[in-house]
Amino acid sequence: YFVSFEGGDGAGKTTQLRLLGAWLGESLGREVVLTREPGGTALGRTLREAVLHGEDVDPRTEALLYAADRAHHVHSLVRPALERGAVVLTDRYLDSSVAYQGNGRDLGEAEVEQLSLWAVGGLLPHLTVLLDLDPADGLGRLRGDPDRLERAGDEFHRRTRRSFLARAAADRTGRWLVLDAGRPVDEVQAAVRARVAAALGV
Ligand code: C5P
Ligand code: MG
Repeated sequence: YFVSFEGGDGAGKTTQLRLLGAWLGESLGREVVLTREPGGTALGRTLREAVLHGEDVDPRTEALLYAADRAHHVHSLVRPALERGAVVLTDRYLDSSVAYQGNGRDLGEAEVEQLSLWAVGGLLPHLTVLLDLDPADGLGRLRGDPDRLERAGDEFHRRTRRSFLARAAADRTGRWLVLDAGRPVDEVQAAVRARVAAALGV
């Protein structure tokens, strides 16, 4: 069972993923793997550093670096874990690329979706939790030095938010769960658990 957490910076993806992981670890009796993009592998951490803090690159190069990170992540970590029967929770997956590079960087959502699906051999999550939040609130929650994307400007972040919401609304597979990330952490977590519990029979 494969779950991705998506949403803007500061929406609480990491917090929600860890809470879900801890609960599943106790209640499920199955291996639970927590991971992230970019940076879920050793190569991925090199790519993450390059794309977030390295030399400025053009949008196509940026998209390909994220795609390379994702291809390696899925091939070496996500797919093997799913094949062993583990539950895999990832902090961002290909919907981030569609929103950030496809829409935010103007490369085209359909093109970036195709690139991303090619990179992962078509692997989609069973569940994608979209933590939706006004970017002004999300960026206000962040601590530490902002990376390049966090500095990208309000309009960029408003566009990525709209892109996530539109994708979720247009989806026909039923994999999206859209939650208001401005609600208290435990309420958001309860909604996530309810959905996962129903799917896994916990
Ligand atoms: O989620 P996390 O903070 O680890 O993401 C790192 C940065 O990379 C964020 O600023 C996010 O906006 C950006 N990002 C991106 N395109 C992706 C994935 C992440 O621009 N496909
Ligand atoms: Mg961040």
